[in-house]
Parts: sequence; C-alpha cells; structure tokens
Amino acid sequence: MSTSNAILKVKDLKKHFPKKEGIFNRTKNYVRAVDGVSFEINEEETFSLVGESGCGKSTTGRSILRLHEPTSGEILYSGKNILDYTKRDFRKVRKDLQMIFQDPYSSLNPRMTVKNLLLEPLLTHNICSKKEATERIIDIADKVGLSKEQINRHPHEFSGGQRQRIGIARALILKPKIVILDEAVSALDVSIQAQILNLLIDLQKDLKLTYVFISHDLNVVKHVSDRVGVMYLGQMMEMASTASLYSNPLHPYTKSLLSAIPSIDPTDKRERIILQGDVPDPSNPPSGCPFRLRCPNAYDHCAIEKPIYREVESNHWVACHLYN
Ligand code: ADP
Ligand code: MG
Repeated sequence: MSTSNAILKVKDLKKHFPKKEGIFNRTKNYVRAVDGVSFEINEEETFSLVGESGCGKSTTGRSILRLHEPTSGEILYSGKNILDYTKRDFRKVRKDLQMIFQDPYSSLNPRMTVKNLLLEPLLTHNICSKKEATERIIDIADKVGLSKEQINRHPHEFSGGQRQRIGIARALILKPKIVILDEAVSALDVSIQAQILNLLIDLQKDLKLTYVFISHDLNVVKHVSDRVGVMYLGQMMEMASTASLYSNPLHPYTKSLLSAIPSIDPTDKRERIILQGDVPDPSNPPSGCPFRLRCPNAYDHCAIEKPIYREVESNHWVACHLYN
C-alpha cells in the first residue's frame, strides 16, 4: 500500500450501533456494522468497496462523512484526523467530502427547481457571491449534461438517469476533493448506467476527483476501479488492485463473489461456487474467521482464531488462514 500520496487514510474504523432489546429497551448488544476496517486512498484514484448487502459498505462511507459518528478509529484527511474536529471545524472540511446516493430523488426537495437545488449547498456553506454562484451553477450543469433550459425545471420532470445527473451536480457544485458514491448507478437501467459511469469517469479526470465507489455489482466495480476492497461482516477480507483482484482472487469469499458474476462468454468454464446461507447477524458474529460458516475451505482452526489481515503479495492484502 503506497503511503506517499494518500489523501484519505481510514485506520481501524469501527461503527457499532446499539441494539435495544427486551421490555426495558436497554442496550444489551451492538450491531457491529463496521468492525475494524483500514484502507488508504490515493489522490485521484477510484477505490471501491464491494460485498453483499449488509456487509457494512454504506456505514463505512457514511462514517467518513461523520453522517454516523464512528465508535472508534481514525479518519485522516490530508493528514489530520477529522474525528478530532469539533462539529464547527468539521463543517469547514465537509465541503471537500461529498456523497452521491442511489436515489437522488429522495434527497431532492420536489418543490425546488434544479437551479435552486444547486444554489442551496452554496448558500449553506456561504462560499461565494450570487454572481459567482450563478456562474458555478451554469458551469456544473453543463459539465453533467444538463441544459440551461433544464435547470429551470423540477426534479420530477426528469428520468432516473437525468435525476442522477442532478445528484452529481449537487455533490460537485462545492468543488469537493473526495466523492463517496454509494450504489450511485445501481437503480439505473444498464444502458443508462454506462452513460452515468462514463460521465463520472470524465468528471473525475476533469475535476481531479478521488472516488470511493461503493457497489454490490462486481461488473460495474471492475469497470471503474483502480483498487478494490472486499468487505464481509464489517471487516476487510481482501484488498488489491482491480487487475490482481479479478485475475487472482485469494480469499474464498472473493472467489465466490466473482464466480457468481454472470458470464457472457460461452466458452467460460469457470467453476461456480455457490455461496450457501446468508450473511450472519452482525450483532452475533461467529468466532474466529467471520466467513468460516459459509466458506468451502474452512477447517478447524478457522473457528478458533481470527485470521490476520496481511499483505501476502505486493499491494495484495487478505485475511484468511490459507495464506498465513
Ligand atoms: P451495506 O451498505 O454493505 O449493505 P450497511 O452498512 O448498510 O451495509 O449495514 C451494515 C449492517 O449495519 C447491517 O446489518 C445493517 O442492518 C446495520 N445497520 C446499518 N445502519 C444501521 C443503523 N442506523 N442502526 C442499526 N443498524 C444499522
Ligand atoms: Mg449500502
């Protein structure tokens, strides 16, 4: 893992949600949504988080923006731990860190025009004059492919793909450094998905953005990422460059996720590994390796000791006893 140009470093991040149980509604237990995750992201790269639903991807993304206050760990942005900042000081860096969600419509006020939706973050952060705001709005609308005429309309007048362009514009109007995209294209038709992904790739180059790309879709992730982290039950199971991860997956969990991708190649003779059962309850995780209950390679030791997450090949990390 190169440390030289990391813009974001996440160290041993944990987010445990209290789980109220029993007739007195007392906190007996915790949902270990994120349970000790570490990674670094280099400037202008796309780092993806993948894994089945419920493995803690969104909670990781939201914790970076302090939309959830992490339970413990460090989040270093430009070398400073943003979890140490007061709410007030955090507001100043918050505009550098933006998020794009799966369904922008749910977060857009239906009564506001696109122009006003784009103006709102500028007013909230009080960062420019009215004149500059208008210029910025026209500029960003143009960059995401919305016409001057379209920005006078309301979000409900747009299709899903167009609405996501509004969501992207709203995130980028503040000129962020890091954008967290949480299932940003997952709700779109495949043809629209490709258009939005290409737009995101172009914008990244143009605006020198760093992306944290969260998705359960390994085909999409392969297309956009420089590096990928595979999460399971709130932990990082494997992390590597996109090329290494897809051509040489090491963790049995990654292998099963990849073998489940539908192939369009009729000569593809890959062995299919069917993942049995569901992700365990994160408030009651198994002993030892979190994946062992579903792992085709599990042996006695996996129940006893948790595998250490280590770099087994250059820039290729894995937490599995097969590689200890
Ligand atoms: P993913 O994005 O990978 O699908 P999430 O981060 O949304 O996973 O969720 C991880 C786990 O944390 C899940 O078990 C989920 O039910 C739980 N969880 C997420 N948000 C909350 C919350 N606000 N309160 C309690 N549990 C939560
Ligand atoms: Mg999610």
